[in-house]
Amino acid sequence: MKFVGAHVSASGGVENAPINAKAINAKAFALFTKNQRQWHSAPLTESSIEAFKKNCIDAGISADHILPHDSYLINLGHPSDEGLEKSRSSFLEEMQRCEQLGLKLLNFHPGSSLKEITTEQCLNRIAESINITLDKTKGVCAVIENTAGQGSNVGNQFEELKFIIDRVEDKSRVGICIDTCHAFAAGYDLCWQESWQETFNKFEQIIGFNYLKGMHLNDSKKGVGSKVDRHENLGNGEIGINAFEWIMKDPRFDNIPLILETPDETLWEKEIKLLYSLTH
Ligand SMILES: [Zn+2]
Ligand SMILES: [Zn+2]
Repeated sequence: MKFVGAHVSASGGVENAPINAKAINAKAFALFTKNQRQWHSAPLTESSIEAFKKNCIDAGISADHILPHDSYLINLGHPSDEGLEKSRSSFLEEMQRCEQLGLKLLNFHPGSSLKEITTEQCLNRIAESINITLDKTKGVCAVIENTAGQGSNVGNQFEELKFIIDRVEDKSRVGICIDTCHAFAAGYDLCWQESWQETFNKFEQIIGFNYLKGMHLNDSKKGVGSKVDRHENLGNGEIGINAFEWIMKDPRFDNIPLILETPDETLWEKEIKLLYSLTH
């Protein structure tokens, strides 16, 4: 079974996210559990936590299909000790918020070398950051998102993601989220059935579908291999609708949150409906 939704607004409180998801007939959703442009924020209140859980039940969406996203400021591979420390403490806070909300996944961008350290050094720092955070928390899986390879962001190739997983001690609490726009921008051509198959066969060989905990379904404004991260609504970009139809028809993408992060959110309800129509 497929669980499609979108990265909905949590403005006014996390408890509003499931309400916003239900309004667009989503069966999954993503959210920021705090302001994504701030390092720290006020702790979640008891009433907010209770309302969140109640509204998720009302929306018929379980924690298995909720994919919270961390703050954009966090860089778990930061080259400076100070930047790394700040990122790790903020990431720990994010994971604790997920624990409080009864969530099981936390999606994050791996990190950036800022061209001050090598990619390998950066990847090692990220793995260490994950280990430190998992040690201090329970139950929440660290879900690494593939990047477009823009600037000095690491983790755009499956081999780099695998490098991180190899160094995480608790393999049961690390996973991957594949963003189709990022994969395409990183050079994985999803337009053609042959190259699409080849991409996901590579994913299976290098990482393994057992680690796939979620997908971000985005078309891309820029071409394959552009290394530019610009999302587009489904069918309006360089990837095209076929890639998403193949995902919807493929059981390897069953039972995980499939999340739209497309720019025109007024189209989300239609996009969700369209995706479900492609399963048959
Ligand atoms: Zn994404
Ligand atoms: Zn993106």
